[in-house]
Amino acid sequence: MTHDELEDRRLLCSMSLGYTAYYVWSVQAKRERKYNIARLLNAFSAVKRVRAERALRALGEVSGTARNIERALAGLEPEAVATGPVTGTQPFSRELLSRAARALSEGRDLVAEELDDLYVCSTCGELMEGAPRATCPVCGTVREGFLSFRAAEAMGALGPTTLVRRLEQTPETLQALVADLDDELLSWPVGGYSLKELVGHLTDIDIVFRERAWLILETDNPRLPGGDPPTLEKAAVYRTYPIADLLEGFTNSRRQTLNLLRGLTPAAWHRTGYHPTFGVIPLTHQGNWVVDHERAYLIEMAQIRHELLQRRFERRPISIPDNLVPEVLEGE
Ligand SMILES: [Zn+2]
Repeated sequence: MTHDELEDRRLLCSMSLGYTAYYVWSVQAKRERKYNIARLLNAFSAVKRVRAERALRALGEVSGTARNIERALAGLEPEAVATGPVTGTQPFSRELLSRAARALSEGRDLVAEELDDLYVCSTCGELMEGAPRATCPVCGTVREGFLSFRAAEAMGALGPTTLVRRLEQTPETLQALVADLDDELLSWPVGGYSLKELVGHLTDIDIVFRERAWLILETDNPRLPGGDPPTLEKAAVYRTYPIADLLEGFTNSRRQTLNLLRGLTPAAWHRTGYHPTFGVIPLTHQGNWVVDHERAYLIEMAQIRHELLQRRFERRPISIPDNLVPEVLEGE
């Protein structure tokens, strides 16, 4: 094995491990609603992926698809080699990680001023912060070939039509999630939260979203209200509400939100506001934020429903048909 080949094998192992680690850490940061730190970790994972790809190609393990399928069937088995450290290996990446560590030590996400837009060269994996240069300083790839990790796009890339359709579906999905469960079961916390407080929490967030959307549409580049939106912890009070009231509250709020959004022109969806955490963002960013938030909770609610139906089965084994769990989230 030549020195270059050995180095490429080391890079393939190191970069593949680094890619997986950064990617999974990014997913976790998003789950903790540290969206800027998630974006940073996602950019790091792209750096590693690009470099792993270069190493795999350099090793001659990439050909036409027919040959690649043969390789896959044969069970590609690169020799494992010692890799050394796989993350935080460059001074610039250490600086960016230190910024994230500082923010987290204060119990918060990075704010807009602390993390600019990020770009990763898709040819060599060079990571760049701020307005992109015309070409990669390392390999000369043009800006069009950069992968972008911009704050404005980091929340998701769904367009207006899809966003409105998703927002329209939720009231019906919520109905299905609570169907055939009595008020007592709906108040039972499963894994800390009851279905009732989750419905109430989604209403709280819909109201925050509508207020922000209204500001963006009705005023010029408004400063959006800072601070965190209502947390799930504040929703415990909803456990004492009748489910009918909670569903009506959500449906009414969502109707008002959709009245604001339906028929907006693409230009209106690209109007912007200044958000303390994300910087200057278009309305589409906030639309993706609310849809993404809702989707995560609807999946969690389907899980809780599943567990409640099992408990009810144990409580009253005879009266329950066995096909009560609808596939409410199918196609999402
Ligand atoms: Zn480059």
